[in-house]
Amino acid sequence: MKLPLKVTAIIAIGVVIIPVVVVFAALSVVIMGRQAVAEGFEYNGIRIVKDGVVSLAVVPSGNGKVVLVDAGYDKAGKAILDELARRHLTPDAVAAILLTHSHPDHISGLDLFPNAEVMALESELPLLEGRADWRGPLMRLFPRLSGTRVTRVLHDGETVTVGEVSARVFSVPGHTPGSAAYLINNSVLFLGDAADISNDGKIQDPPWITSDDRVEDRAALVRLDQRLVEDRAVVKVIACSHSGVLVEGLAPLTAFAQTVATR
Ligand SMILES: [Zn+2]
Repeated sequence: MKLPLKVTAIIAIGVVIIPVVVVFAALSVVIMGRQAVAEGFEYNGIRIVKDGVVSLAVVPSGNGKVVLVDAGYDKAGKAILDELARRHLTPDAVAAILLTHSHPDHISGLDLFPNAEVMALESELPLLEGRADWRGPLMRLFPRLSGTRVTRVLHDGETVTVGEVSARVFSVPGHTPGSAAYLINNSVLFLGDAADISNDGKIQDPPWITSDDRVEDRAALVRLDQRLVEDRAVVKVIACSHSGVLVEGLAPLTAFAQTVATR
């Protein structure tokens, strides 16, 4: 049976254009309203490296070694390898990788560094080991992970030392159950995807479409701010994986916590 041209055109619109519009709308929700990644930003040698839509950090740990915060989206790890080469280092120089969470855009380069310690919060292990599914509306479309190598299980409140790097570990559940924030060398606070930075330089929620539970996430950020204030922690820089850095100390996180309290 031959369909009339008009019907064929309508079907073509349905099959081709509508999915494109849906995907574009989903991407817009994720991307719009937030700062661009601060590619090449550096504080005391801690460097933000852009890998497509996401960023990771390279932290020098002494003796020609580095620690990574996350392992990026690119399985080939071009951005990471380029940064290592810029430092005259090879993949063997990566001593440890601190994972903020299990989403694919944060872990895909892991296999490039088989000798590195891989660290993640205990509460993220079910996702990393493929025993649980993400709950964010967009993330439900992704298959479970087939199993991720984690060599050291982290717990909230501990401090990890790798060479000259010290990382305080904070549980910030919400974006995923085992999302972690790291305060590196008492200077740079990595929030991963627990938060974004808006175009006008404020801490904001991560996109709902990729997040398990933003109410839980907000509460976790408020608790994190309280703990850092009470501890008189030194925070110089706040970095978020998809949206740049802020260089006003802890103040932007405290301001965010205050907006949550008045909602
Ligand atoms: Zn994420």
